[in-house]
Amino acid sequence: MAREIYLDNSATTRVFPETADYMRRICLEAYGNPSSMHHKGVEAEKILSEAARTLAGLLKVKPANLVFTSCGTESDNTAIIGGALAARRRGTHLVTTRIEHPAVLESMRFLEKQGFTVTYLPVDRDGIVSPESVHEAVRPDTVLVSVMHTNNEIGSLQPLAEIGRAVKDKNPAALFHTDAVQGFGKDRIFPRQLGVDLLSASGHKIHAPKGIGLLYIADKVRIQPMVLGGGQQRGLRSGTDNVAGAAAMAMSAGRLYQNFDEDIRALRAMKAVFIEEVLKIPEVRINGRTGEDSAPHIISVTVPGVRAEVLLHALEDRGVYLSAGSACASNRPHVSETLKAIGLSSDGTGSTLRVSLSVMNTEEDVREAAAAMADLIPFLRRYTRR
Ligand code: PLP
Repeated sequence: MAREIYLDNSATTRVFPETADYMRRICLEAYGNPSSMHHKGVEAEKILSEAARTLAGLLKVKPANLVFTSCGTESDNTAIIGGALAARRRGTHLVTTRIEHPAVLESMRFLEKQGFTVTYLPVDRDGIVSPESVHEAVRPDTVLVSVMHTNNEIGSLQPLAEIGRAVKDKNPAALFHTDAVQGFGKDRIFPRQLGVDLLSASGHKIHAPKGIGLLYIADKVRIQPMVLGGGQQRGLRSGTDNVAGAAAMAMSAGRLYQNFDEDIRALRAMKAVFIEEVLKIPEVRINGRTGEDSAPHIISVTVPGVRAEVLLHALEDRGVYLSAGSACASNRPHVSETLKAIGLSSDGTGSTLRVSLSVMNTEEDVREAAAAMADLIPFLRRYTRR
């Protein structure tokens, strides 16, 4: 059996062993409900507050600005639908981009059905939205603008600070949301410096388990809660708190921030090696930017003449795991909006793979993966092009 080379870290990551150990201890020992008044409850409440303090420290915000959710999708839904509904009396116009994750796009579509109108901004060939286009799109009746931090398919980074300024310059009351699910832990993100009112993050993309997400809500921003019930988390998100998940997210995020610069340099070095090796294969192309102005961990590769799924499964036989386009939304085949938006033809989108790295990878992983591709692609092309 081949060695496992996991290069699908934008779909999900392996939990850090120390995080898994900590969670196990919480599940077996500090298992109380933080809302309970007895010792077990107080103990759990302390762990939860400590997790919020750690994460708030990393984002340079107050713990009271954070709400734990079940995932990045819930954070996006709550920010966008909750933010828009709470502001409805001020207006019913929203702005977003064509390359957002379905968690954002489907929230927008839901709001369209409720009578909101949405402007979907285009991006350039590198998947970048211009602050000028945001400035032009924002109107007096715009209540919320959502622009992602890091694109999950091609790793494009948006000029968020300029976009934030464009939003507020045109309409200071409009809320600015960013989906930082792929950016948190890969870039130092400070929502207050970026002029961001609402920010989404997710635990399982940063070596914590699935089932925990985070939503930053700036002071004075009003949100219509989406999960109603017992009033936990100041009424913003009811439901018994996921103590082990929150503690895990804080621990893994803290670990990522310990050797931040070194780890990001290592990711960029692995990315550069992979790109250099894979570009030696005839006709192979990389989509979007590849330098310091792109995400350190995401590479979008188009392999003309080979169906992405066929190559994905052939690589799987060699122990290499990656995605066809963007597989993190669901495993249903779909045409990637991002790849279409940057101008790829349908042949191109069907032949595009995503490689996504994490701090758990090594240079050897990317060299072996590129070598496996170099080996398989000419062989697979012979069948496709016959
Ligand atoms: N936003 C982006 C950019 C993503 O990449 C993902 C997941 O891949 C999500 C949102 C959804 O996050 P979750 O899987 O935690 O619901």
